[in-house]
Amino acid sequence: MAFEDVVGRIAANLEHMKTFTATPGAGCTRLPFTKEARQAVEYLKIIMAEAGLEVKEDTAGNVFGTLQGTNPELPCVMMGSHYDSVINGGDYDGIAGVICAIEVARQLKERGVQLKRNFVVAGFCDEEGMRFGTGYFGSGAMLGKRDVHYCKRFRDTDGISIYEAMREYGLDPHRIEEAKWPEGSIGCFIEAHIEQGPVLDAGNIELGLVDCIVGIQRYMVTVNGRADHAGTTPMDMRMDAVEAATKVISKIPDWAREKADGTVATTGYIRTVPGGMNIVAEQCEFTVDVRSRNNDNINDIIRRISAALDRETEAIGGSYEMDNKLTITPVNLSQNMLSIMEDSCREHEYSYQYLPSGAGHDALEIGQVIPTVMLFVPSKEGRSHCPVEFTKYSDFAKASVVLLDLTETLLAE
Ligand SMILES: [Zn+2]
Repeated sequence: MAFEDVVGRIAANLEHMKTFTATPGAGCTRLPFTKEARQAVEYLKIIMAEAGLEVKEDTAGNVFGTLQGTNPELPCVMMGSHYDSVINGGDYDGIAGVICAIEVARQLKERGVQLKRNFVVAGFCDEEGMRFGTGYFGSGAMLGKRDVHYCKRFRDTDGISIYEAMREYGLDPHRIEEAKWPEGSIGCFIEAHIEQGPVLDAGNIELGLVDCIVGIQRYMVTVNGRADHAGTTPMDMRMDAVEAATKVISKIPDWAREKADGTVATTGYIRTVPGGMNIVAEQCEFTVDVRSRNNDNINDIIRRISAALDRETEAIGGSYEMDNKLTITPVNLSQNMLSIMEDSCREHEYSYQYLPSGAGHDALEIGQVIPTVMLFVPSKEGRSHCPVEFTKYSDFAKASVVLLDLTETLLAE
């Protein structure tokens, strides 16, 4: 198969996928358990079957296509990503990884490669967590981490629970645990994804070998002071929650920079109560999101934040709460699979760079328990989660070439 034809097949699949959006002309909006999700799944089933895969939709809304090996009882090689999107997102986030995996299957089939173990293409449901404020729904279900209580717990902004949305969509949430794969049945997981950041595009690099997915800790901090008149309360007689909070917030970026290893820390949300121009704030809420490939760095920054909060709230005679919203430890990806991909990049003379992933992915959920690797393709100007998200089809085709080399090596093992 000529390279240009591979580009053409990937382009045709992704162009067709673009039509499954709830917001035509304003980016991709493909939320889980909606009409657009159903259309995407049905289309995936068609092109998986055309590629010669045995197709199955599971009880969590994931879709799998299997190319049978001669020893199907061996742990399989799984490759894929998610088919959902954020609201007004891009056309490639997630779905391009599924289409690249299908392209790998096509080429395995065309070349008549003898597979020892099964090759499984996965299209995961609801990675983004956009609709229900969650994330990694489908890949989590595959690992046995979702049950009916989980489905009942989370609701969208219209008050519809995952449970209700699944039933409406034609899935039985009482059967969600059947989506779990037996322990040891998945030998490794491979995810191709757009970078969603500017590093590869800025460096004119063709492929990114992802060696780590950064860990995240997220907190909601509430600083408590006292509301007073802004004009009549002397400076040394107030309990100004904003003063205490901002003295801490202003230091956080420098603490991240000090680590000098790509650690990032963000306060993306600040709210004051009661929020009047002429009132000393009695409360100041803010978020902290710290990410690093080094978990010690995350812990150290969080420790410094809480020590500074101790100090600054004491200075105003106030108090604070620090509520943990999310803790994910960093995942190191498979060195073995990275070196096979590196060899492949050299052989095809593709420029490449090792880099961490600053965003979470299905690979983050799966990589906690199964050897996992990711391959990034450049995102134009790093833009993602917006309609202008763009990657050249030829870049996806290059990714599929490297993925095919990796898969052939793994399937022969
Ligand atoms: Zn994604």
